[in-house]
Amino acid sequence: MEQRKGQRLVLFPFPFQGHINPIIQLGNILHSKGFSITIICTNFNSPNPSNYPDFDFHFINENLSEDEKCNPNIVALIQLINVRCAQPLRDCLAELLSNVSKEPIACLISDFACHFTQAVADELKLKRIVMRTGGATSSSAYAAFPLLREKGYLPLQDSQLEKLVVELAPLRVKDLPLHDSCAPDEYYQLVDDMVNMTRTSSGFILNSFEDLEQPALATLRQEFGIPVFPIGPFHKRFPASLSSLLTQDQSCISWLDKQGPRSVVYVSFGSLTAVYEMELLEIAWGLTNSKQPFLWVVRPGSTINSDWLEAMPKGFLEALDERGCIVMWAPQQEVLAHPAIGAFWTHNGWNSTLESICEGVPMICMPFFMDQRVNARYVTEVWGVGVQLEKRERGMIERVIKGVMMEEEGEEIRGRALILKEKATQCLHEGGSSYQSLDSLVSHISSP
Ligand code: UDP
Repeated sequence: MEQRKGQRLVLFPFPFQGHINPIIQLGNILHSKGFSITIICTNFNSPNPSNYPDFDFHFINENLSEDEKCNPNIVALIQLINVRCAQPLRDCLAELLSNVSKEPIACLISDFACHFTQAVADELKLKRIVMRTGGATSSSAYAAFPLLREKGYLPLQDSQLEKLVVELAPLRVKDLPLHDSCAPDEYYQLVDDMVNMTRTSSGFILNSFEDLEQPALATLRQEFGIPVFPIGPFHKRFPASLSSLLTQDQSCISWLDKQGPRSVVYVSFGSLTAVYEMELLEIAWGLTNSKQPFLWVVRPGSTINSDWLEAMPKGFLEALDERGCIVMWAPQQEVLAHPAIGAFWTHNGWNSTLESICEGVPMICMPFFMDQRVNARYVTEVWGVGVQLEKRERGMIERVIKGVMMEEEGEEIRGRALILKEKATQCLHEGGSSYQSLDSLVSHISSP
């Protein structure tokens, strides 16, 4: 632990699991560098403060109804949070700034998705640094939206989905970070707001590392003209289990202990996605027909119109025996580090992608929306550490699983994944790129 710096940082997470984990990890990292940490969070989806005795917590009311919180249109929810949290956050920050009994606040660190925080920080004359919980490549794709509109790639046209986006190769139109369930203009406005409010901030922190995303990081430095700090992978410094909003079922670890090395397919599609009942059936049959052991996270509510396992095919649960294990929520980082895991069938949320890379686990990519599509394309085409599942159909699922788990293709992927794992480890060591970038971030925060 470094000497205390006599400076306080205020962190404001976006209230979703994939955003809370990294920002809490960032709090731990900066606390270990000598800063005091205050977390302001919404009452909705707040982490448990008793897990963080070193942090000072404050809660604001996000003013959302129960219906609004459950809105499957995530983009609409992001916009609402940006509107409804502005006044409560401003009031809370103003009160903290007026409290002279505590260390002075050096800056506000807030999520890329919370673009409203820039105006709040400006009004209070507070430095804001943006924390991006996604990767650099997807961030630079967001920054390219005006160009994509100008060149006619956007708005999306069905006839163009397979077309290469020359300016962002190897992304195709269908890999762009879009969301199908909202109006294009509403979405472009959100993206423009997030990007423009980052440009006017005083720095950009990413949970990534130079060896992984060097070209995109260079683009961001040029595009944004602010210091960019890739200091990840965060969870290799501080794991995320304590900030889990759902209880992680540890029983799957003892189940994994009984499986052979690299024999299990781990299946999880993160905290927000949902599949149709038909897709659930295809997944279940694909897993069964692959004849590989599997650990499957079926989050309650992750099948549309079903509470939990009601929509599973007849006889599937009864026939699971020892070959399959289903849990509501897993200790994912522990699972991925387990020697029994042979592949990760993932939705390619950035945290899941990075956690898989850090353990050298080959991925089967099935992105749903936004940056997941960019991440999946990079996993398969640039880093070569996974394959894309093009159709949610049992025959294809079976073939892809067998290919990754049992065939030469899988061995080659595993070889590349282990090399990338090594790079993800090295960058955190003294002299490594993320180690150095963290030192630069600390100096940047401390400078007036
Ligand atoms: N996670 C977990 N248990 C699970 C599934 C996911 O702890 O059963 C964690 C995972 O380790 C990751 C986060 O939840 O840190 C999901 O973030 P990601 O960016 O991958 O996806 P999102 O949920 O934001 O779509």
